[in-house]
Amino acid sequence: MSESEWSAHRARVDAMAAALADSEGPVRLRKSTSNLFRPRADSERTELDAAALNHVIEIDPEAGHADVEGMTTYADLVDATLPHGLAPAIVPELKSITVGGAVTGVGIESSGFRYGLVHDTVRELDVLVADGRVLTCSPGRRPELFYGFPNSYGSLGYATRVRVGLIPVSPYVRLTHTGYSDPEALFAAIGEECANPTCDYLDGVYFGPGEFVLTCAHFVESLPEDTRPGDYTWMRQYWQSLRTKDHDYLTIHDYLWRWDTDWFWCSKNVGAQFKPVRLLLGRKRLNSVTYQKIMRASRRWPLSLVQHIRPRTESVIQDVDIPIANAAGFLADFEAEIGIRPVWICPFVAPDDRFSLFRLRTDTPYINFGFWDMVRSSEPDGHYNARVEDLVAKHGGKKSLYSRSTYDETTFWTEYDRSAYKALKHECDPDGRFPGLYAKAVHQG
Ligand SMILES: Cc1cc2nc3c(=O)[nH]c(=O)nc-3n(C[C@H](O)[C@H](O)[C@H](O)COP(=O)(O)OP(=O)(O)OC[C@H]3O[C@@H](n4cnc5c(N)ncnc54)[C@H](O)[C@@H]3O)c2cc1C
Repeated sequence: MSESEWSAHRARVDAMAAALADSEGPVRLRKSTSNLFRPRADSERTELDAAALNHVIEIDPEAGHADVEGMTTYADLVDATLPHGLAPAIVPELKSITVGGAVTGVGIESSGFRYGLVHDTVRELDVLVADGRVLTCSPGRRPELFYGFPNSYGSLGYATRVRVGLIPVSPYVRLTHTGYSDPEALFAAIGEECANPTCDYLDGVYFGPGEFVLTCAHFVESLPEDTRPGDYTWMRQYWQSLRTKDHDYLTIHDYLWRWDTDWFWCSKNVGAQFKPVRLLLGRKRLNSVTYQKIMRASRRWPLSLVQHIRPRTESVIQDVDIPIANAAGFLADFEAEIGIRPVWICPFVAPDDRFSLFRLRTDTPYINFGFWDMVRSSEPDGHYNARVEDLVAKHGGKKSLYSRSTYDETTFWTEYDRSAYKALKHECDPDGRFPGLYAKAVHQG
């Protein structure tokens, strides 16, 4: 344990806590990047600068965990753990996602079928609350806060330190891409893998009716002779390889970031599917942070003139979680009513039903469906996002709150545990210095 790292960490937290305690009235977090997909309302809130809290404090290979500051990106955490032959049990696939943001915003990736969601792999948290106190919580210490923090979106306080579980990894993975035409057969195969895991990572893609690809990744210590690992960090696109290859090899680093180079497939929204654009952007700029910046700029500047001549569209950017038994039904309804393609398919289990703001059944695996695109619309704005919420409710699922929500307050609190939340809000932020969860999730507070 390096005492100097811990005392430096404490000094950074004390500075942030003092800034919070010394300020008055409403506050909000200032961060250099964000993966929120709902515009933030302009407000009179004091901005709390948390950028300094981006350090990996300590990696403990024996205990199998890392202590990391809340604003540390997964890209930096992975760079720190891989030299130990370790990686976080769940690594959300966009490089700018931070550890605190993924805990509070519900994170997922292709090891979810073994370990659950990001918050299921957290062992302990420090939360800075509205009066400047820093509360340590874990399953055995302040469990209501520990189990109430995921899906709170900074409305209860800020994670300044997170103790995340690590898993041993190999230098490479072997990928097997299996095509399916029948969704029932696909979800049956996924259900079998969740029940008796044989691979190390599992996810899939729905390309359209009758076209699914399921990818199983296995750790391998070395590559077969005359084999080079695949490279999707520049001219080639990972998502396209799923339809042209039945197996592949990647370094573990490139596997963890396989979706970041093209923001899954959303880089097409900035023309990055065209080779000249890829040549121009180059390896360094082909990533989700670049695309976010371009997307945000396009919302502000004259590009919007184009939007006035294009057919009207509605932005539908969502991740929803559906019990596996209802997955095929949900997808059929989704295809008929929304029709966005491709759709990311990521199975996960829910080992613990005590997370009060994101309570899931523990008796079934879930399928996370991720879809991020514009839908042509002649309906009132919000129509398609509301239809997604209806379909999620119809199929007994849950929707993550990082993007647009149209719930009225009563319906919202049938999805999330109001009484548990109210008790925590009273404990952590009795004067409402942080926006409330409903205000944040639905009214962009
Ligand atoms: C296209 C797209 C695809 C996505 N796919 C996935 C996916 O596959 N897997 C996945 O895991 N996630 C996915 N996400 C969701 C993403 O993980 C969540 O939005 C997550 O909350 C973002 O983390 P961030 O660090 O960028 O936080 P931000 O976007 O900056 O913040 C998210 C919210 O959390 C709060 N917050 C941030 N840091 C802290 C902290 N330390 N303590 C308390 N509150 C905090 C902020 O106030 C804000 O309300 C996706 C998002 C997008 C846009």
